[in-house]
Amino acid sequence: MQFHHHGYVSGDPRVLPAAGVGLDRPAELPDEVDVLIVGAGPAGMIAAAQLAMFPNVTTRIVDRRPGRLEIGQADGVQARSVETFQAFGFAERIVAEAYWQTEMVFWKPDPADPSRIVRAKRTPDDPAGVSEFPHLLVNQARVLDYFAEFAANAPTRLTPDFGYEFEGLEVTDAEQGGEPDGDHPVTVTLRRTAGEHEGERRTVRAKYVMGADGARSRVRAAIGCHMAGDQANHAWGVMDVLAVTDFPDIRTKCSIQSEAGSILLIPREGGYLFRMYVDLGEVPVDDHHHVRQTTIEQVIARANEILHPYTLDVRHVAWHSVYEVGHRLTDRFDDVPTEAAGSRTPRVFIAGDACHTHSAKAGQGMNVSIQDGWNLGWKLGHVLEGRAPESLLATYSAERQVVAQNLIDFDKQWSTMMAKKPEEFASPSERVVQSSSPVVPS
Ligand SMILES: Cc1cc2nc3c(=O)[nH]c(=O)nc-3n(C[C@H](O)[C@H](O)[C@H](O)COP(=O)(O)OP(=O)(O)OC[C@H]3O[C@@H](n4cnc5c(N)ncnc54)[C@H](O)[C@@H]3O)c2cc1C
Repeated sequence: MQFHHHGYVSGDPRVLPAAGVGLDRPAELPDEVDVLIVGAGPAGMIAAAQLAMFPNVTTRIVDRRPGRLEIGQADGVQARSVETFQAFGFAERIVAEAYWQTEMVFWKPDPADPSRIVRAKRTPDDPAGVSEFPHLLVNQARVLDYFAEFAANAPTRLTPDFGYEFEGLEVTDAEQGGEPDGDHPVTVTLRRTAGEHEGERRTVRAKYVMGADGARSRVRAAIGCHMAGDQANHAWGVMDVLAVTDFPDIRTKCSIQSEAGSILLIPREGGYLFRMYVDLGEVPVDDHHHVRQTTIEQVIARANEILHPYTLDVRHVAWHSVYEVGHRLTDRFDDVPTEAAGSRTPRVFIAGDACHTHSAKAGQGMNVSIQDGWNLGWKLGHVLEGRAPESLLATYSAERQVVAQNLIDFDKQWSTMMAKKPEEFASPSERVVQSSSPVVPS
């Protein structure tokens, strides 16, 4: 029971009364919306959750998947993200179900016999105490579930529209030299990917579009943004497994370097599974994704070579993938060309992996994407409700571009440090200093 301005209210305070467009929200995707978000990953879902709190703003979020993400992808949740979850009321609940990363252990080749690994260092995760919350390891799917729950309980009763693939868009805005097209200048073409209407195309007109459609973003391509960065990708064999092993730090996050390669070991929430990123190295530009044919058996064999003299007897593989990614950054985060920045209102935005990609080693992908979505969500809501000028929207690209550049610079530095052999460090203290908790761009 809680006291509100209209008296005592009994019931779950997380379920807010429906209001505004949430009173008769159509089950089917309407022809016109205020905001169309493409992609129900972390960047899209946090923006959707925020916008769901604005009763007079019609927001829809589409994804080509047939339903919720169930398994896989990212799992490192930085303390800054947990602080952000507080705004949505689920920080304590996700903390309770996650693995708490309080320290990290480094393994290296034994100087007496370099074919064997030995424990080199154990470092606290957050020696400076930057947050009241721990650094968590919990699957991306659970983070998305919490945002979805918040959005569904918000006044607009927002739920994702699964089974729609973005194909293209056109902006017919007078400001952009096109024919004025009323209040909804962005026309988006979608294709149904599931259900009885699979294959059918339809258009949706929006005031604003947010492309949170991942590393191969088609929204990014549609607005002519350019991704610059590494020519080649780096690949990891990633596996969430149940295994019998005599490796003593299996329930602690570890960076393991041996003569046979390297592993990033991540214990999973729930107490049984753990994840291993087995480094598959740089992928030649002309590989044509051949690396993705690496089998789970090959990844397990490689892991056993790296862990020698310890062994890994995998009994169950819950999820595995070959994760291939390079350091890349977009030239801008909206549809206003750099030379025209500030001269007109952006109509289309991109966020998350659509803007920046980097290694998985520092566990930043989901975290920075969440902050992108956060930055854009409240701005769109306030502009659409008339509480802020449209010029506020131009600050999104300007603010997030800098953060993304910091992220790429940081991740390159961190990846280089993690790949260094012990003898390559200038001094033992270099390793200790650099091994402590990554500074999170947010
Ligand atoms: C297979 C895979 C494995 C990964 N593994 C790791 C990992 O091990 N560690 C790590 O740190 N990071 C990993 N990542 C990256 C991490 O998940 C991202 O950094 C993070 O999810 C970025 O969030 P996002 O919202 O920008 O994009 P995503 O989470 O990629 O979400 C994009 C969403 O857009 C949807 N979408 C894409 N194209 C379209 C379209 N045309 N129309 C409609 N919907 C579309 C997708 O279905 C998806 O739901 C992985 C990513 C993938 C794809």
